[in-house]
Amino acid sequence: MPQIDRLVRELVDSPPQLILVAGLDPRSLSKTQDGSRWLASGKTTILRILLREILEAHPKRRCVAYCDADEEFRLPRELRSRVELLQPRQPDFRPKWLQEALRRRPELLVIGSLTAETAPTAVQAVRAGAVVLATVDTLNRGAAVARHLLTLGLTLDQLPVLGWVISTMRQPVLCKKCKQPFKPDAELLQHLGVQPVGDPPTLFRPGSCAECKGMGREGDVSVFDVFHADPGRPD
Ligand SMILES: [Zn+2]
Repeated sequence: MPQIDRLVRELVDSPPQLILVAGLDPRSLSKTQDGSRWLASGKTTILRILLREILEAHPKRRCVAYCDADEEFRLPRELRSRVELLQPRQPDFRPKWLQEALRRRPELLVIGSLTAETAPTAVQAVRAGAVVLATVDTLNRGAAVARHLLTLGLTLDQLPVLGWVISTMRQPVLCKKCKQPFKPDAELLQHLGVQPVGDPPTLFRPGSCAECKGMGREGDVSVFDVFHADPGRPD
C-alpha cells in the first residue's frame, strides 16, 4: 500500500492509543438488512497487516489478542509465537477473558471487534499504557467513528483514547469495455458535492457486455480513509 506507507510508519510508533480499523462486512448486516449488495470491507486483512507492522517494528512488545470464537483471526505463522490469543468458546466466559486480557498487562492488545462489551476493556488498556488495535463495524469514517463510539457506551472524557481510524471499504470497478459515459446534471453534481465550473465532467455508469458477463463491473478496489486525532484538539 505505497500511498499510505508514511501514515503506517507513523501509526506503528503510536503511543498508547486506540487504533481502529473501521468497515462494514455483509456478515454483520445480514441479520437486519440486505447484505448482498455490500462487498466485504477487508478490515480484518488490514488489521493483520497493521499487527504485523507493529510487531516487526517492536520485536520485544508483549501482545495479547482477544476475539470471539466465531471471529476470523488468522495470524501469520511466523507471528503466532508472539501473540497470546484469548478466545472464549462460550459467550458467558467473555467478561472473565476480557479481565484476563487486562491482567496480563499487554503492551499491544488486539481486540477482534470493538463492541459495547469490549469497548471498556479497550479504554482501560490504553489508560494502562497499551496500544490497542481493534476493528469496528461501521460505515462511518474519520471523526464520525468517534461519535459511533459514544453509541457503544464510551463517555466524552474517554474519547481522547482514540488515536487513529483507518476506514476501509471495497468498491466495484466498472468494466472498461462497456462502461457508459454521461454528463451529470446539476442535481447529481450537487449530490456529489462538486461545484460546477465550466463544462461538467464526464462520468461513467455500468453497461453490460460478454467480457463482464453482463455485470457491468470487473473486480473491485480498496478505498481507505485515514483519520489521525489531533491531541491538541480533543473535540
Ligand atoms: Zn462489460
